[in-house]
Amino acid sequence: MNHCFRVKTLFLSIVLIMGLMESGFCQKKKIALTFDDSPDSLYTCRVLKILKKQKVHATFFMIGSFAEHNGKIVRKIHRQGHCIGNHSYHHLNFWNVSGNDLVNNEIGRTASIIHQFTGVTPRLYRPPYGDIQDSLRTYLELRGYKVVLWTIDPKDWDLHNTPEEIVRTVVDQAKDSSIVLLHCGNGDRSHTVTALPEIIKGLRNMDFEFVRLDDLLGMTENKEMDIVKARN
Ligand SMILES: [Zn+2]
Repeated sequence: MNHCFRVKTLFLSIVLIMGLMESGFCQKKKIALTFDDSPDSLYTCRVLKILKKQKVHATFFMIGSFAEHNGKIVRKIHRQGHCIGNHSYHHLNFWNVSGNDLVNNEIGRTASIIHQFTGVTPRLYRPPYGDIQDSLRTYLELRGYKVVLWTIDPKDWDLHNTPEEIVRTVVDQAKDSSIVLLHCGNGDRSHTVTALPEIIKGLRNMDFEFVRLDDLLGMTENKEMDIVKARN
């Protein structure tokens, strides 16, 4: 093998490696665990303990009426470095509620409560039951909110699903940039708590990195977001 050929081979190898790095080939797959209907003093705290032990950052979609009475837990979630999203004040089906009423009485109110405890105004909004009209989505997004649903739903709220089935659904459906819907309040979430360590283990074995939803979506929490402006 002559010298010139070796240099050429080396050069082509470097170009190939750089190209693969740029294309994300060498990057870890990312996944966001999200927990709806928080906070409560039982299951949310158990979930927080597991996430802390496993060094995982996640996202909590909070119900305003729960957050209002659980300030200590709201602060703890924020302090542990998790992302906080807005899940309305009453957790009703808002199909017939006008955009203005929803922003004022459900989303704005919840945002104020979260801001009061953490100093952060969430920009992420997840509608209860995932129901939202296109016109309402546009209305909210024009006011600085990002409406986010999910890509994997293991139906952890249904106690007919065993923890093993919940783990299997998440692990089987996991892809790069998946958003996993789980619950940690507003009902019996014991199956979710049991499943969580195995979900984390299974996804880590598949080389997934756990990220906050705002990071997955390329956003950052906007501390300057003006609630008053959002109400207009
Ligand atoms: Zn919910």
